[in-house]
Amino acid sequence: MTEFDPTRRALMAGAAVTGAAAASGPAFAQANQSGSDSAPMTRQAADFPRPPYPRQEQPWPGLAQEMDPRPDHGEESYQGSGRLSGKRALITGGDSGIGRAAAIAFAKEGADVAIAYLPEEEPDAQDVKRVVEREGRAFAAFPGDLRDKGYTTGLPEKVVEELGGLDILVNNAAYQQWVPGLEELSDEQFDQTMKTNLYAMFWLTKAALPHLNPGASIINTSSTVAANPPEILIDYSMTKSAILSFTDTLAKQLASRGIRVNSVTPGPIWTPLQVAGGQKMENLVEFGSSTPIGRAGQPVELAPLYVMAADPALSYSTGQVFGATGGSPQPAS
Ligand code: NAD
Ligand code: MG
Repeated sequence: MTEFDPTRRALMAGAAVTGAAAASGPAFAQANQSGSDSAPMTRQAADFPRPPYPRQEQPWPGLAQEMDPRPDHGEESYQGSGRLSGKRALITGGDSGIGRAAAIAFAKEGADVAIAYLPEEEPDAQDVKRVVEREGRAFAAFPGDLRDKGYTTGLPEKVVEELGGLDILVNNAAYQQWVPGLEELSDEQFDQTMKTNLYAMFWLTKAALPHLNPGASIINTSSTVAANPPEILIDYSMTKSAILSFTDTLAKQLASRGIRVNSVTPGPIWTPLQVAGGQKMENLVEFGSSTPIGRAGQPVELAPLYVMAADPALSYSTGQVFGATGGSPQPAS
């Protein structure tokens, strides 16, 4: 039985299954009767952990392996079907959370995978390495700080050396720390947020372009905060809006070169970002409860969107915004 066995989840959810989960009751019962597996696409709301979540806090940048409950990145639950066979991908922040879910799904879809992450996240990166290599795919790890221009601009060439090329670039790393108001927002934090979320994306994409051929795909992680910025996340939300503009503009610039550029807009997702200063404790315990689905999403629930955006079959989709918001409004491109 995997950690996310639907039967076990249903038992854990028990009588507390309400709202969206209750509404999906018949479908869920049917899925179980038909002996459905734990593929994310077939799972229903009751299969996933729901609020209240245990109180917890980690020093930034946090580790997925120390979260309770452990996030589901698709280690066991994602099933591939060769959609990215032979591709080579670089994912920033690929050690944990949404980036890890993309890394694992890409490998299960037949791609070789390189990840960039901070040195202190090595334990999480090792977990990703194990899953990617278990799938028989090549894995390359590049620890470093994306605020360092030399490190960041050097990444694409290193990936080409290690994997033989670069077809998919996922700009996913981000810095998010809540502050009550503008007076509490320090220059240091503002700078770190802009450097991590915007400068690194700019530097890395520019350095990657000479290596990208027709058919390549660039995917940028934005957020629903671009549509509805929370009052405690002013600097972070500014960057998530800017990522949409960057995506839109670059899609126009690169269409004639056969390179597609899309963004993904997650809603509240259960990742280290949130337990390492990204949310106030009271919000974390109730994380995702304000969405129509009524819970936080798990990273694996984003994985199919990254696969879709990378899949050459989506040859007419560029400058698009792909959402997984739990039912909340998502930004338009
Ligand atoms: P996460 O903590 O698992 O991933 C963020 C990653 O960013 C870290 O693992 C780290 O490797 C990387 N990072 C941060 N600063 C860095 C630096 N200076 N140098 C190198 N790497 C650095 O959290 P996540 O939630 O999976 O975040 C992934 C993306 O999803 C981010 O772009 C985030 O804005 C976005 N997002 C998350 C949520 C959510 O609720 N978790 C919602 C919307 C959007
Ligand atoms: Mg991490």
